Amino acid sequence: MRTYLVVGASRGIGLALVVELLKDPTILVLATARAPNRAPGLQALSSSRLSILELDVTDATSVERAASAAAALLPAGSGLDCLIYNAAVLLQEVTPFEQVDLAVFQQELLTNTVAPLHVVRAFLPLLRLPHPPSSTSSSLSSDISHRQSTKIVFVSSDLGSLEVAPTKAGLCETYSVCKAGLGMLARKWGTTLKEEGICTLILHPGWVDTDMGNSINIWMSEHRPGLSKISATESAARCLRVIEDARIEDAVAFYAYDGSRVPW
Ligand code: NDP
Repeated sequence: MRTYLVVGASRGIGLALVVELLKDPTILVLATARAPNRAPGLQALSSSRLSILELDVTDATSVERAASAAAALLPAGSGLDCLIYNAAVLLQEVTPFEQVDLAVFQQELLTNTVAPLHVVRAFLPLLRLPHPPSSTSSSLSSDISHRQSTKIVFVSSDLGSLEVAPTKAGLCETYSVCKAGLGMLARKWGTTLKEEGICTLILHPGWVDTDMGNSINIWMSEHRPGLSKISATESAARCLRVIEDARIEDAVAFYAYDGSRVPW
């Protein structure tokens, strides 16, 4: 069995990732929500392979508590195979820099850029745990294959790409800054983690039919005409294919949901 942790799974793409993962009977899923009792879609997924954890990524105590709870839930001696950091907020969709609310920007930075560091750091000991050796492989090959399969995935956006993000004033300005920072976090930290066999990816899920994706309908149709919105199910399935296919040699990479590379 492999274990995936999906951070921010109450709705949207995070919830769709959980649904897709549960289709594979060899996968255990730990799904987090900041308020599980306000996540009916997640609660409805009754599966013995799903555990739901409470985790507000902006609350340090909550992060540490969730990491301890995850450790207690994992089968003895085994760790996490993949951590997907999906949680994010987009709070200032069409605000030019001169009108940005700094307190709101700080909230965006906390959720989108600072919290990923804290969450990954808290769960890293579980990602580093080796898997119990299988009966068919030597301990050396088992260790190598485990290390090559361990992944950290940051769900980002092509709006965080320095080259791709539109320069038109006022479009998701602070969100783009947050996601660009997330890219640098992934690229620098992921390069170090690669040395111990952990594959770090950053992923653009497409323009997706979720609360966040729908909040930018007007400006997407104006500034990216011809781009179609995809369903959360399609995005999640294609993102998981990219994650599964990625090898340690690919790290650190910025992929889109269709497997193409996004420029940094
Ligand atoms: P939604 O707004 O639909 O969902 C956001 C998720 O993040 C929710 O589960 C939400 O939980 C969670 N979240 C936000 N703040 C916190 C917090 N403090 N603690 C824990 N969880 C939190 O967004 P999407 O599903 O559309 O986006 C998912 C990811 O995809 C994000 O990283 C986003 O930036 C990225 N993305 C989305 C695109 C799109 O078109 N939709 C395009 C490009 C990138 P809660 O229910 O508690 O609020």
